[in-house]
Amino acid sequence: MLTLDPRESVRLRRFWRHHFEECSRLSQAYEAACNAFIESGGATRNPRPPAYPPFPNKLRGLPCGTRNRQGEPCKRTDLMLNGRCKFHGGMSTGPRSAAGQSRALANLAKRWAPDRHEAWDERRP
Ligand SMILES: [Zn+2]
Repeated sequence: MLTLDPRESVRLRRFWRHHFEECSRLSQAYEAACNAFIESGGATRNPRPPAYPPFPNKLRGLPCGTRNRQGEPCKRTDLMLNGRCKFHGGMSTGPRSAAGQSRALANLAKRWAPDRHEAWDERRP
């Protein structure tokens, strides 16, 4: 499994993402149904947990496969949702939703607030 054809690797990783997107979609629909049930105060039927698709056998043991600094493909099989390991998944792209971006900006303003620095300067010997 470690020597994968690059095209096959791309295809499997796409399939990996597709599988987890499908699971995530089911999970979100279930969560929405649960919230509707809670808001209705028990008037509607209690939602049943979704039947998640089984993990595909051809994805078992799929290695990360990124070329590491030794020039060999990464052998880790504990992959994240993007089909790569924790070392090769890439950096965070930051908050995506408008709410998340405004939260990040608020934290930035808090971090660089002038009075915060004045307090720090007073403490400095
Ligand atoms: Zn890796």
